[in-house]
Parts: sequence; C-alpha cells; structure tokens
Amino acid sequence: MDKRILITGGAGFLGSHLCELFLEKGYEVICIDNLITGNLNNISHLFGQERFKFIKHDVTNFIYVEGKLDYILHFASPASPIDYLNFPIQTLKVGSLGTHKALGLAKEKNATFLLASTSEIYGDPLVNPQSEEYWGNVNPVGPRGVYDEAKRFAEAMTMAYHRYHGVDTRIVRIFNTYGPRMRPFDGRVVPTFINQVLDGEDLTVFGDGLQTRSFCYVKDLIEGIYSLLLSKEINPVNIGNPEERTVIDFARLILELMNSDRKVIFKPLPVDDPKVRRPDITRAREILGWNPAIGIEEGLMATIEYFRRMREK
Ligand code: UDP
Repeated sequence: MDKRILITGGAGFLGSHLCELFLEKGYEVICIDNLITGNLNNISHLFGQERFKFIKHDVTNFIYVEGKLDYILHFASPASPIDYLNFPIQTLKVGSLGTHKALGLAKEKNATFLLASTSEIYGDPLVNPQSEEYWGNVNPVGPRGVYDEAKRFAEAMTMAYHRYHGVDTRIVRIFNTYGPRMRPFDGRVVPTFINQVLDGEDLTVFGDGLQTRSFCYVKDLIEGIYSLLLSKEINPVNIGNPEERTVIDFARLILELMNSDRKVIFKPLPVDDPKVRRPDITRAREILGWNPAIGIEEGLMATIEYFRRMREK
C-alpha cells in the first residue's frame, strides 16, 4: 500500500474518524486543519504514527503539498448551527474558496476528490424523505444561508471541475450524524441533551419539538463515505440513517437511556430550522450496497459513555 490521502478538516469530528480509518487501512494520511472548530485532542493519539502528518493551515489559502496524492477529502467547515453563526464569513469562505483550492490541488495531483456536502442543501424541505433529485428549499439570506449556500456552491464547483477539467469527483450529502468526538457544547441536539443530563439540567427543546431529524451513528457514516470514495459514482449520494423521529421523542429517549428524571423545557425555534429531515438512501443502497447498521440506542449509549469519560479526564 502506497496510497496517500489528504483530509481537510481532519481534526474535526468526522475528519478525525476518517484519518483513523485510512491509517488503519494502511494509507499515508495528511491532515490539514486550521483548528477554529477542530481540536488536536481528536487526533493526538495518531501523532506517533509514521504514516500520519498534521499541517495547521487555513485551506481558503493556497494549499501546498509535496509529492503525490491519490485522494483528497474536503471536510473543512464549521458544521453546527452555532458554529456557522459564530463564523459566518469563514463558513462561506471555506465552502467556496476552500473548495476551489482543494479542487485545484486535486487537478494538479490527479487525485480523486470527495466533497463533504450536507442535507442542509435541501434547506427546509418541501418533500420528505429527501432524495438526491430534490433541489431544495433554501433561504439564501437567513442565518443558515451561509452554510447552505456555501455547500451548494461547493457542489456546483465540484461538478464544474469534473465536467470541465475531468477531475474524478464524489459528493456525499451527510445527514445528522452523532458519536464520539463531537464537541460537548457545539450546540447540536445530541451533545446538548446528553451534557444537559450530565450537568443535572432540564433538556432545552426548541419550538414545539415536533420537527423531525434522522440520526446516523458516526461509524456507519464513515463506512458509507469510504464505499462512496472507492465507487465510481459522480452524482451526489445521501448518507444517513432514515430512522426519523421528532426532537421531543428524542429528548425523552435520552432521559430514558440516562435514567434521568429531568424535564423538557421549551425554547424558541431558531430561524429557518427545518421542519422535517429524513434521507432517502435508495441510491446508497443500490450503488454502494451500504446500509446503516447501528441502532439509535446502541449508538447513543456509546456516545453517552464518551461524554462521561471526557469529564473524568
Ligand atoms: N434542538 C433542540 N434543542 C437544542 C438543540 C437543538 O431542540 O438544545 C433542535 C433544533 O432546533 C433542530 C434539531 O434539534 O430542530 C437538530 O438540531 P441540530 O442543531 O443538532 O442540527 P440541525 O439538524 O438543525 O442542523
């Protein structure tokens, strides 16, 4: 094995799991991150390995890498609603300029390029579940627009590099994912609820809690991304777990799994919060033979355990 892979955003939640996976498979891994939302703790256990290299760099600037590259995975971006509200300009820049730089590098190195896109490109969807054919319902000027539009632009740029420059590309549309290495206070619902219970607080449900999400455990997601990379599929592919539930049911499930008698309290719904979200994964099933395998209870128990352990450190 002499494959070399570059992972932008490699110190983040998903990026760090990808670094680990490709090291396990024998690849040489170059991880780039500017650490605005990524964290070295996610990859510190990899530093001793000879085939692992970390470069602190903002990929909106020219990316220089010596030697060959077989694959580039572009995962750099703030990715939780509060992160992209805190870093709106960086979010737009990394999705646009950063994608352009990463694609330019893929072209130069003749590498296969994989873009981390998102279910957010469907916006507040008018159809449920969302298949890849659906064009979405996005508010360009709302607070989430910085992320949604950056990722939509990134998809368009990826297809342009494929069509015009012949770069071998993949686009994964990632739906809500959870698991170890999420930041406890990134504002997303899974770490928020778990850490509220650990802090002895009530769970903050936004709106009436009847909005739905479908949660995929990180291990399943990473395996789906790996299959997509090794496939020949140029069109976008949804990867996520189609098991859909309301946010309020999800809050109750967390309380039950954590044996907690805390309550649910209601807070205002954030602007443009999607009312439904559920991936149609027919394409992933048919083309990749991929299916999520880890149920919500098993995945949540592992995630709860992770947050508990983090507090003991
Ligand atoms: N949410 C909630 N309480 C929280 C955090 C989030 O009720 O403390 C809701 C949020 O309004 C959304 C859902 O949970 O409807 C998922 O939110 P998250 O930020 O995890 O990701 P999103 O799917 O909105 O990108």
